[in-house]
Amino acid sequence: MPRPARPAPALAEGDTPVTRLAGVGPAVAAKLAERGIHTLQDLWFLLPLRYEDRTRLTPIRELRPGRPLQTEGRVRHVERQFRGRPVLKVTLADEDGALLHLRFFHFRGPQVQAFQPGRRVRVFGEVRPGLGGWEIVHPSYRLLEEQDPGELGDRLDPVYPQVEGLGPGSMARLVRLALAALPQAERLEQLPLALWRELALPDLREALLTVHHPPADADIAALLAGTHPAQQRLAFEELLAHALSLRRQRIALREHGAFALPPAPSAVDALRRALPFALTAAQQRVLAEVEADLGKPQPMLRLVQGDVGSGKTVVAALAAMQAVAAGRQVALMAPTELLAEQHLQNFQRWLEPLGIRVAWLAGKVTGKARRETLAAIAEGAAQVVVGTHALMQGGVVFGALGLVIVDEQHRFGVHQRLALRDKGLEGERVPHQLVMTATPIPRTLAMTAYADLDLSVIDELPPGRTPVTTVAVAAERRPELVERVRKACAEGRQAYWVCPLIEESEEIEAQAAQTTFEQLSEALPELRIALLHGRMKPTEKQETMRRFKAGELQLLVATTVIEVGVDVPKASLMVIENAERLGLAQLHQLRGRVGRGRAASSCVLLYQPPLGAIARERLEVMRRSNDGFVIAEKDLELRGPGELLGTRQTGLAVFRIADLARDAAWLPQVQAVAERLLAGSPDIAEAIIARWVGSAARYASA
Ligand code: ADP
Ligand code: MG
Repeated sequence: MPRPARPAPALAEGDTPVTRLAGVGPAVAAKLAERGIHTLQDLWFLLPLRYEDRTRLTPIRELRPGRPLQTEGRVRHVERQFRGRPVLKVTLADEDGALLHLRFFHFRGPQVQAFQPGRRVRVFGEVRPGLGGWEIVHPSYRLLEEQDPGELGDRLDPVYPQVEGLGPGSMARLVRLALAALPQAERLEQLPLALWRELALPDLREALLTVHHPPADADIAALLAGTHPAQQRLAFEELLAHALSLRRQRIALREHGAFALPPAPSAVDALRRALPFALTAAQQRVLAEVEADLGKPQPMLRLVQGDVGSGKTVVAALAAMQAVAAGRQVALMAPTELLAEQHLQNFQRWLEPLGIRVAWLAGKVTGKARRETLAAIAEGAAQVVVGTHALMQGGVVFGALGLVIVDEQHRFGVHQRLALRDKGLEGERVPHQLVMTATPIPRTLAMTAYADLDLSVIDELPPGRTPVTTVAVAAERRPELVERVRKACAEGRQAYWVCPLIEESEEIEAQAAQTTFEQLSEALPELRIALLHGRMKPTEKQETMRRFKAGELQLLVATTVIEVGVDVPKASLMVIENAERLGLAQLHQLRGRVGRGRAASSCVLLYQPPLGAIARERLEVMRRSNDGFVIAEKDLELRGPGELLGTRQTGLAVFRIADLARDAAWLPQVQAVAERLLAGSPDIAEAIIARWVGSAARYASA
């Protein structure tokens, strides 16, 4: 990238307050300010959410749901109804007699009067199937005179984000006024114009003008899809702004100090020697990265990604050894009690023989036990503390917290992770953080979503695992599966039968599992079967897991509580009901519960036909691949990154124009430009962050 010749220009035009615009008095300014709009520049960057295409008329019989369309008809029938509140229903018909029903919930008398039978009405909105034909709720519409030629527009209409108290018309007008003050390209641009020529993208001025007011000859399909060069130009800069902002946070984090936890080969090796297996090459590499980070006086913030079963837990335990050897405490937080308990057992088994005290803290720990645990944590006597969200609560005070380990990061919000970290705040020093996740995230996306974390990948499974064979089977073949379970268990294998969430309620999910449990118990009287769901008491859950793990139980009927982390190597058959309703990430997680031992494992995805196109594709991906990264790429394609990562969970920004899935191809260049800007022109970096992210840089102290 060519270096800019001069620092970012001071943009007098951009800093002009909105109150200079005609019609913006204190009241309107206050409303705009609530949305963070103070200056002309804020209006320039208030980008249309989408466009409305009024350049075409679609006959009523050709209307289809999916996106808003424009159509025309004549009033056939007007009816005022009362359905708990007043409803106005206007039926239109076109020349062929096709009907379209318009439904209004807010209307006034004169409006009703105007819909005279036979009157021409032009309508814009998205149809949905109603009783007796298509229906549009609250369309925008226009009455046409008989003689009106009804000319169609020749360009797309921008739709702006709503500002409380201002109509869509006034927003469009304000943006138009603000754009009149847009300076020349050289003055507006923060980045060198040569960069855009290199990327074959328009300059900022042209891009803004096109995006706000697409010219008549613009490529309408591209604009509606978000792939027009003008949109791509802005998306690039927005992605750049976010990349810069994350990197800046990372730099801020590095400015905190941390207690250096020097490598402790003898302590760490003592644990390694006690393990019943040797580390894989990938585990060794990741451990070395963690060990090096811990030794530094700056806080580590490292994400360890590894497919289900890749052996992340033991890496965490070895890192914990290093911290404990340095005289510091370790907190390990897991998202579910089941998983936290499993970690507790592993850590106790591994660490206690070496004389390390492992404590347990969950919501259910109360009374005297809780007081004693809290005291041990505060004194530092509890060297490793394993638990759930309960670890973050007030009242939990660590004597000398040195390392925070968070398992299954995607289940926690960024803020929760920070809350735990801050338990170890001592002056300017913060604990090291190790974050583990089995949600494989495509690398490009990880770079953007987690640019503030260093990334380690365990990209190898322990030896001796055989890939899981997966089949998809229609639900009517359930009886065959029952036989298959009978046979597998007779051969000494163990099986899971998973009943996933069918309703948005743990209670109903538990009921479904209960019913399946009863049916299977009846069909398979010779088997030792148990039920596991989220509504059971922790002690019951624990006991059931213990018996399953010990081989006392042959079949476990469970809800998705077993989705995360549960490790029973001898289980080698899994049946997942209603598989068509689950996303790829969840199916992959569930399937990861089998294939952990030496026996060849299989997974049966039971589905309820008929399958929709996306569900069919998902099941096909599961059948073909066992590779979490392949599955994640596909998931990204099918669902988009927001759902994949969970916007809320990651603190991943809501973009104004960029779309991580659509624009992913830019990310390597975005990263490269970001690095060069931070190194060479931090003032420009600041200006770009301010322009796009502004005060929305919410978690500024990661
Ligand atoms: P995950 O990465 O999904 O959290 P776990 O840490 O639960 O995986 O490990 C899965 C299983 O593999 C556990 O039973 C663990 O003891 C075992 N394991 C871990 N590392 C190795 C290894 N290098 N060789 C053999 N087994 C291993
Ligand atoms: Mg795990």
